[in-house]
Amino acid sequence: MLRFAPSGEGNMTELAGMSVALTTIGFDADDTLWQNEQFFRLTQDRFTALLADYAAADHLHDRLLAAERHNLGHYGFGIKGFVLSMIETAIEVTEARVPASVIAELIAAGQDMLAHPIELLPAARETVETLAGRYKVLLITKGDLLDQERKLAQSGLGDLFAGVEIVSHKTAAVYAEIFARHGQGAARGMMVGNSLRSDVIPMLQAGGWGVHVPHPLTWALEHDEPPAADARFRQVDSLAALPALLDRLAVAPSPPKVTQG
Ligand SMILES: [Mg+2]
Repeated sequence: MLRFAPSGEGNMTELAGMSVALTTIGFDADDTLWQNEQFFRLTQDRFTALLADYAAADHLHDRLLAAERHNLGHYGFGIKGFVLSMIETAIEVTEARVPASVIAELIAAGQDMLAHPIELLPAARETVETLAGRYKVLLITKGDLLDQERKLAQSGLGDLFAGVEIVSHKTAAVYAEIFARHGQGAARGMMVGNSLRSDVIPMLQAGGWGVHVPHPLTWALEHDEPPAADARFRQVDSLAALPALLDRLAVAPSPPKVTQG
């Protein structure tokens, strides 16, 4: 894989030899195009209130996060797994004395999450619309299949995407396969999302561009160090800045032929 030393934003030399024209742009969905984590936080508040008689909020958060982490391999990402992790944590912290009424409330809280109306983030529609006219635009998300399909349908953005991929994990191999199947490979692709760990770093590893759009609420298990040394890493404050970023990348001088190193 080719790697180049970092240099300043907008500096043409950093782009020398890096890429042919971008053709395909993938968008993450949750907390990139629409709100998501805020509903998890609200439910977690409900969870800590329900179990306040048994454990302090900090302890509950720690135990719940530990349960979510070890359950990812069993349930994958999404609300159903989150509910099961809350129930497991409730049993653990109460030493199996949690009332059935509390379990019922946790299940109801999960069902509320599955019914919450979609709330698009600022500039989501305009940005996807603008770029869909210039690039092949994909939606690449993980989570519960039914829930993601529901949110996409409610978002009204479905027709803008040339492809929708709901995957179990976002790895370099997954991105390489998706961008090969829908586009001209990851090297001519860009992934845009709020998670460094899921949206940006594996796409860079696949040889593509990774653009981080930070969201003030991002799940602890999605945090990672910004890959600042990677020449294909960018960060924008808002989706609204994405078309201009792409315009800047497109005016880079025609790259010389490079040999794989
Ligand atoms: Mg996300």
